Amino acid sequence: MSDCIFCKIVTGEIPAKKLYEDDEVVAFWDIAPQAPVHFLVIPKKHLAAPVDVTEQDDQVIGKMIRVGARLAAENGVADGFRVIFNNGKKAGQVVFHIHMHIIGGREKPWPM
Ligand code: 5GP
Ligand code: ZN
Repeated sequence: MSDCIFCKIVTGEIPAKKLYEDDEVVAFWDIAPQAPVHFLVIPKKHLAAPVDVTEQDDQVIGKMIRVGARLAAENGVADGFRVIFNNGKKAGQVVFHIHMHIIGGREKPWPM
């Protein structure tokens, strides 16, 4: 997808502070963190949103969760973090390349 900012992060066309990368996924720090630890895990393959995931993506979605949980632990929030996929504008999705938020380290109680 030539016009997708997260595809451009995958290719390196747009810089990002990457925590992890392999042939299928990339993890990078969110540019506008909502908590002390806030990073995103994405598949290198362009999928717009969770609703676009098909059976052939099952493996990579599982890997995103596994990698995200490991990176959460490495960044000190193994005891509590949120794993969030937003789907659609109404749910607050603004970037239409599927991404998993890992958010942790908040001192205040979590809203919802
Ligand atoms: P959404 O609301 O679509 O689920 O979340 C998109 C997330 O991507 C937001 O938390 C936003 O701060 C982050 N984001 C948007 N553009 C960039 C970017 O160019 N670089 C990085 N590192 N994060 C971005
Ligand atoms: Zn994309």
